[in-house]
Order: sequence, then structure tokens, then C-alpha cells
Amino acid sequence: MAAPGDKYPEHEETHQEESLAISATLDAIGFNAEIIKLTRTSIPQSIEIFSIIKGVETVGIETRLIGSAGEGLLTLTLNSGTTSDIDYIKILLDYEVHEDNDTCVEQDHFQFWIESCETNAGYVKLRIANDKTLRQLESSFVEYDAERNIHYLTNAAVIMSSEQNITSDMQCAVDKMRDTFIMMDHIVCGPSCSSVYRENFKPDTFGIDKIDVVISIPSPKWPSVAEEWIKRKRNYGWPSRDFISEHEKQGCYVVPVGCKECDRTHLDWRLSFVLVEQALVWDFNSTQLQCFGLLKHLKKFVFEKEIGDIISSYILKTIVFWVIEESPPKLWVPHRLLTAVQVCLDRLIECVQDNCCPNYFVRACNLLTNRYSTTEKPIVLRACYFVRKDTVRLLTQTQLFNNALECYRFHRSTIESAMNILITNSGRLFLCITEVMKLNHVVILQKYHPVKNL
Ligand SMILES: [Zn+2]
Repeated sequence: MAAPGDKYPEHEETHQEESLAISATLDAIGFNAEIIKLTRTSIPQSIEIFSIIKGVETVGIETRLIGSAGEGLLTLTLNSGTTSDIDYIKILLDYEVHEDNDTCVEQDHFQFWIESCETNAGYVKLRIANDKTLRQLESSFVEYDAERNIHYLTNAAVIMSSEQNITSDMQCAVDKMRDTFIMMDHIVCGPSCSSVYRENFKPDTFGIDKIDVVISIPSPKWPSVAEEWIKRKRNYGWPSRDFISEHEKQGCYVVPVGCKECDRTHLDWRLSFVLVEQALVWDFNSTQLQCFGLLKHLKKFVFEKEIGDIISSYILKTIVFWVIEESPPKLWVPHRLLTAVQVCLDRLIECVQDNCCPNYFVRACNLLTNRYSTTEKPIVLRACYFVRKDTVRLLTQTQLFNNALECYRFHRSTIESAMNILITNSGRLFLCITEVMKLNHVVILQKYHPVKNL
């Protein structure tokens, strides 16, 4: 593969101004590293649903917020007038999985040995390690292999943990969360603009479709199948050596999901690096976050309509990880935002052409296996080319930018008063200048891609 840097100059000249405009628009609605950092720390604590879920949890379970909400990316979903799931992982702290040759094992814990799935490197089977563990488990979760005299933990455990719809006792929690978000709006845009956003919120569930909870068992040691992630040479220092060694120490998890290929898929558990992935997203700069956000946006508004869920959010996140790792930092600046999006789309097209998108941690695990048939492949490719060719138009036609422009119209009437504050209150000088500059970029965007009469 050519050095990624070779690909950039051809895009740059045509998209710099539009990149800046879109980046500033995202800034204006609070989709940048600074604000996302704020939502990451303030929102999970204030999501009352979280404490309800935590409230019913028993000793020995740790609950963590994952998915878009955990990554802090709900801002974008909510601003584009769509809905999102809230995802949690429940970590069974008394359970552990280990590879066969591990020696130091916590005596108090329920233990399983990992056996790799023969057909997919991203999956393992869990062999029950001792009688104590076997006695603890409900027999419906255990399968006995008489030939080898081995007991396995089936992934039927997924049944007790899957989708939980929002119940009435969670409603008041949702209301409280809405207040938090409206408060966030004030921080981002000032009171004038929050009412614009609020119209697009679904008042009943506040943009939340459903709550997904997945259980998981820790693998205290980093699995050898993902050893390459620790050791591989990185040309641009992302992620950093410190990041890697810190997360190597924390290990990973297995979750009750079967691969699609083998004949004993009910025994499979998927290796999950979800908390490392979350930490990687937290490590993104603003342009990287915005690039990821725009790709997710394209998925929701274009890919899903054309090809359903074939190109999943997880595939897009994986592509972004690979591209950030393999591209120079000079790509990740606001005036190259659209270039970065297109580099990612080019990478996606390459993957679909080759039928291969390696998992970011386990290279041998191909995320595109069994995702589409040979007859679907040309349709998937056509959708990718369509998005690649028309990226800017597709992005600016969506509700997100309508909202941003409406926000501008709203602001324009208050710019005069902002100017007054600018003159009378030197403390707010910098804030006002930034606001006015952002709005100027929105005006540039409107010039290129008129969306509404302003
Ligand atoms: Zn399998």
C-alpha cells in the first residue's frame, strides 16, 4: 500500500474552505474535543438510568457506559434530530477467562480456559476450568462434550442480558437527563439557541431508542491473538507507547456473541476490546472526532437507506482507527476534515473490494466475513462510491446542517446584542469573537451549499 501521505494533496486545494466551514459548524453545535470531553465527564454521572441500572446490580458486577454515549458522541445524534441507543456493559468481576498456559490465577474466582474458535480468530470457546465453577453455573448454560469430558459455558447467557426497553420507572430519569442536555446546550450555544434544538427532540424518550446491556467476563491478561496490536511498528506514534502498555495491563473481555461461520456458534464468545476502543476515541483530537462523527452521520443518512446495516458503526470506527494510526498528524487539522473523511471512505472502498476489513486488535479477524453476499457486493460498492463522490452535498443536506443554519439565523438576530456585550464586557470578549467567527464559517457553508432561505 502506498504511504497514506501520498494521497492527500489532490483533495486539499478543493476542500479547504468547505472543511473549515463544516468543522466550524460542528464546533458551533458543540461537536469538538473540548465540549465532548465535558459531556463525557458530566453526562454519564447525571444519566439517572445509569444509577437505576447500577441500583439493581448485585455485588460483583461493574457497569460501564459504552457505545456513542460512552464515547461522548450523543451530541451529534441529538442535533441531527435522530435517536440513539444507550449501551452498557456489565462486567462479571467474580469470573475470569485465561489462556491455557497461564499460571497465576485468582483462587476465589470462577474460571474458564479459552479455546480459539477454529474458523474466526476473534472468537473463543470457554472451557469450564474446575468443579467449583461448574457447580456455580445453571445447567442450561453448560454443554457437556462427552467425547473429551469437557464442559463449556454456552453463550445462552445473552438471553438474560439483551435489550431492555425503557420502562415507566425510567421515565423520570429520562426527564432529568433532558434537563442536563438542555443545560449543556446553554454552555455550547447560549440560551437563545437551545430552543431551536429542543424542537427536534422527541420529548417522550429524548432521542433514546432503547437500552442495550451486554454482560462480559474479564480476561485479565491481554490475549495472545491480539499480541500484534501491542508489538506492531507505528509510524506516527498513535496510539502512544504509554497508552498501549497501560491498556495491555488491563486485558480485555469476552461477550456472549457467536461467530457466523462455525458449527458450534452457540459456544462462541467474542473477544471484546470495547473499553480500549472507548479510550482510543477519548484520545482523538477535534478533527478526528469530527471525521468519525461525519462518517457515522453518512452511515445513518445514506448507507442505512441504501444498504441497511451492512456498513456498521463498528466497521467505520475500525477504519478510522486504522487510518489515524497509518496517517501523518498533518491530516488531522480542521482545513483537511473533508480530506480525512474521504481518505476513510477510500479505505472503506478498498476493504469492500478486497472483502477484508481486519479487526483493529485481531488482524486475522475479518469484519466483512459473511456481511454481504456476492450479489450484494456491487450494491455495497455502488453505495460507497456514491458517498465518496458526493460527500459534501450529502453531509450538508442532512438535518444536522439544517439545524446548524437555523441556529445561525437565530443567532444573527442576537449578534447585535453580542456586539454590545463585546463592547461593554471585556471579560466575554474572547467568547464573543469566537462565536462570531464560527458564524462566519456557517455563512461560508451556506454560500456553497444553500440549504434554506436565511
Ligand atoms: Zn465460531
